[in-house]
Amino acid sequence: MQIDNRVNGKTKVIALIGNPVEHTISPYIHNTISSLLGHNLIYVPLRTDKHSLEEATLGLRALNISGFNVTVPYKREIMKYMDDNSRDSLLMGAINTVKNTSGKLVGYNTDAEGFLRSFKEESGEGFEGKRVMIIGAGGAARAIAVKIAQEGAEKICVINRTISKATEISETINQNIGNIVSAAEYSDENFYNGFENNQIIINTTAVGMYPEIDETPLNENYFESHHIVYDVIYNPRTTKFLQQAIDKNAKPINGLGMLVYQAILAYEIWTGTKIGSKKSREIFDAISSMKI
Ligand code: NAP
Repeated sequence: MQIDNRVNGKTKVIALIGNPVEHTISPYIHNTISSLLGHNLIYVPLRTDKHSLEEATLGLRALNISGFNVTVPYKREIMKYMDDNSRDSLLMGAINTVKNTSGKLVGYNTDAEGFLRSFKEESGEGFEGKRVMIIGAGGAARAIAVKIAQEGAEKICVINRTISKATEISETINQNIGNIVSAAEYSDENFYNGFENNQIIINTTAVGMYPEIDETPLNENYFESHHIVYDVIYNPRTTKFLQQAIDKNAKPINGLGMLVYQAILAYEIWTGTKIGSKKSREIFDAISSMKI
């Protein structure tokens, strides 16, 4: 019998806390990275009950864990248990990555930078001087909107079913970065005008995510061929929203790149290792070819 010696007394442990965590593919990404780099590091998901979030955080610190990811629904709530949060994550109102340095827990947000890297790599474009429409105003929307504003977008329109959340994002950015964000209510007219006036359209809602694959945030197909269209959903790879974009010859990008790049950035924070673009591409290709 062969001895499995992949985990030993020196193995660094990285966790994922959230609820649920059963369907996450993050362990595949992080354990693939650690194998590729020959690191003695293992990544394990730990489902955490909402009443135990503070205890879980203190427990992870007490166990001297190197770091951990935070996923839905704790990305905002957990910030209060950190010793510090990065400036960007304070503006974004959420963290997804925690590093433990000698018992000091610091929170970071790599979702937004992961989105940016994926967008640039897959479209060949940046956001400087661009007009962007963001559908949705939850945690992902807020992080992405802050990042796009920091990147020098000309205008951002946030359209959401609950207008107060879109307004909150616009106020945060207009006060802290630049007066470029407007908030819009969910209506066919606002969608029509938004698609007419913007070059980049981003869906940040969960509408169309597996198993609700026949849903889309759009009642009508307003896409035009010049649009670059990003959907943060990665399961399925082609959502109905992206199919609507494809039908009008617009450029579609799914959320898998965001998922992979946020993971690479988190791994870099935990280990201090820089993962170059060639290796990042290899990891992205490996995860893309995986059936999820
Ligand atoms: P969230 O904070 O719960 O926000 C959800 C957003 O979706 C809200 O704006 C909500 O509108 C809207 N929404 C939900 N159901 C809707 C419906 N039936 N019709 C219209 N709008 C609806 O969630 P989140 O953390 O931002 O995550 C959103 C999506 O991003 C999820 O699918 C998540 O998996 C994905 N995500 C992907 C990555 C990646 O790496 N690719 C990273 C982070 C998140 P209301 O405000 O009106 O409720």
